[in-house]
Amino acid sequence: MTKTTMKLDAEYGQTLKKNEAFQVILKSEVAFEQPHPDVHVAKIPIASASWVNTSDGTVLVDTLLNPGTAKQMKTRLEETGGQVKTIIYTHHHGDHVGGGVIFEGDRPRVIAHRYLPENMEKYELLKIHRARLTAIQFNIPFDPARQRPFLPPTELFDHAMVFSQGDKTFELYHARAETDDATWVYVPEIQTALVGDLIISGLPNIGNPYKPTRFGLSWVRALEKVREKQPQLLIAHGGRAVYQGKDVRELLDITIEGIHSLLDQVFEAINNDIPVDEMIHQVQLPPHLIDHPYLKPIYSRTEFAVYNIYRWYHGYFDHNPAHLLPRPDRELNREIIALIDNREKILERAIALHKTGQTQLALQVLDILLKDAPEFPGARELHLALLETLCETDTCLMSRNTWIHFIEKDREILKERQ
Ligand SMILES: [Zn+2]
Repeated sequence: MTKTTMKLDAEYGQTLKKNEAFQVILKSEVAFEQPHPDVHVAKIPIASASWVNTSDGTVLVDTLLNPGTAKQMKTRLEETGGQVKTIIYTHHHGDHVGGGVIFEGDRPRVIAHRYLPENMEKYELLKIHRARLTAIQFNIPFDPARQRPFLPPTELFDHAMVFSQGDKTFELYHARAETDDATWVYVPEIQTALVGDLIISGLPNIGNPYKPTRFGLSWVRALEKVREKQPQLLIAHGGRAVYQGKDVRELLDITIEGIHSLLDQVFEAINNDIPVDEMIHQVQLPPHLIDHPYLKPIYSRTEFAVYNIYRWYHGYFDHNPAHLLPRPDRELNREIIALIDNREKILERAIALHKTGQTQLALQVLDILLKDAPEFPGARELHLALLETLCETDTCLMSRNTWIHFIEKDREILKERQ
């Protein structure tokens, strides 16, 4: 077992075997922590939720993934003397709002940012697409009919909101970050910040190959505001949840420096007219941060962040006139194939590149052949072998599960041919 695998084991509770996907959705056992007498955290591998007890009932921040996990949380919450009067959603992602319905009978006040309802509507409009990408990203069955029970907000806020409940004050702040509807919460009496997915284990999820734009610049500014509060306890709702004392300051300092560095490098590259396919290989975290546990690429990775930051600020056109109004790939591919006039040669070259460790390049070269002749002898087998090589050393959840999705597809194709 490698060192990295050991660490991932600690983050997601899973030791990865060869060609095995991250399974962060299917586990339904909830773990609990109580980092402060009035603060409890409920954790599943992909997300957490927290509750703060006051002298007048409980404020619940997020609700876990689904009614099943939320039910376990409700039981513990009531066993520890809580009763939910208020729910705050940190953003619209399913692993934060999915368990809300379990608390419907308590008739809570439910608070969210004003953009949350529009994001929930998007889930409905793009149901099939969402089911497809969720199946790939999290290695779960494709099920567009999956029900998403949802307890809607009773109150929406815009920039900020403050309310008191019992002996505590809840300051809510909006941030454009992982989503456009992110909310973070500060409770001054106990110097506690609840930041939702502004922090996850490892590199923040600034880029996701399947999802809309994330907002790196306003994200880092939100983290700077969290730091100004000088919290002594910080609860994050992805991966490791609890940070206390001097860990909080270190976590914020490192994360803020890392995000700023990525942003600055992308800004410079855009100003220097560097194409994005070069940029993703040039931009890196500074050497002293690259192996820092707070920035490990275990969920997202720097290449995804670069694509995303670029996409936020840049149009599709890369200033190559051939790409302004291009003909479809398949037409260009056909021309290249006709010029080479030897499909076997492409296969041989892809094999040679694989042998010298240039696996990604081999995959792209082979793609020219596969697009033209998907059944060319040996091509699918090589495609599968390349994906397995890429997967083997990949410990980033999103890219690893993507390789695995296509590995499984290749295996099905080869099985059908037998
Ligand atoms: Zn999220």
